Amino acid sequence: ATPTALLVGTGRGAQLGVLIKGPEMLESTRRVDTVVLDKTGTVTTGRMTLLEVIPGAGERRDETLRMAAALEAGSEHPVARAVVAGAAEVGELPPVTGFANVAGLGVSGTVDGRDVLLGRPRLLRERGLVVPDDLARAATDAQAAGRTAVLVGWAGRARAVLAVADQVKPTSREAVRRLRDLGLTPVLLTGDNATVAAAVAAEVGIDEVIAEVLPAEKVDVVSRLQAEGRVVAMVGDGVNDAAALAQADLGLAMGTGTDAAIEASDLTLVRDDLLAAVDAIRLARRTLGTIK
Ligand code: ADP
Ligand code: MG
Repeated sequence: ATPTALLVGTGRGAQLGVLIKGPEMLESTRRVDTVVLDKTGTVTTGRMTLLEVIPGAGERRDETLRMAAALEAGSEHPVARAVVAGAAEVGELPPVTGFANVAGLGVSGTVDGRDVLLGRPRLLRERGLVVPDDLARAATDAQAAGRTAVLVGWAGRARAVLAVADQVKPTSREAVRRLRDLGLTPVLLTGDNATVAAAVAAEVGIDEVIAEVLPAEKVDVVSRLQAEGRVVAMVGDGVNDAAALAQADLGLAMGTGTDAAIEASDLTLVRDDLLAAVDAIRLARRTLGTIK
């Protein structure tokens, strides 16, 4: 690579809203055939809204919401922000002790003397809480409607389902189409439930979906695709995505994402939409073309 060509690529990149960290990435870009897209915050806005609180039999809605929001006040996760914002009407939140974040699964802590768990059904079940049939069904129904459903529970069982929804970014579908036009295969990767992931994938036109992946496993998914002989670009935004972004042949971070994701990537997309990722890949290919 000649310094001049790189400079051109970098200058045009700045115009397009793409920050290129190093020249090393340009070489691998030409061979990329697969683009792994993180769901939350990358394909979707990541700004979630609490749509519904469904209390179990004999539970009081406001009580379950209050416990949930108190716990989520300690988390930065998009689900947590939605729950806290959605609980404004229940008044002051009680303090939490022993707060812990369980990566890719949820949160735990002690509120009003109770050990409370909130997150994926899997988290509550793993910790020995019973999920009553009516709540399990309510969670499944919410997921079928494309919503992320989390459970809050304490003292041996789940007490309510909280359904939150995210929105696909308006340009995501067009971006996926353009990736295909470039001969690239898009793959949706998420820690979220498989039903929700399938609904989002259908909405933007992605056929290959890898869901319910724990944060620590995202990097393994990228490695596995590479072991199959695929050359992988990954677009992500979360702390969860950092290792996978570093492992990918080309890592692209959303500029609105976390510092960890940005540091782990080759490229940072200043524009908050997926079309910037398409521009970045085209630009990198073109820049390489002028060098060769
Ligand atoms: P993604 O890969 O889509 O960015 P994450 O790996 O961050 O998702 O989270 C996966 C799932 O874990 C979420 O969809 C949610 O169900 C659950 N989860 C993680 N953190 C929290 C939290 N703080 N509160 C509630 N649920 C959570
Ligand atoms: Mg994300």
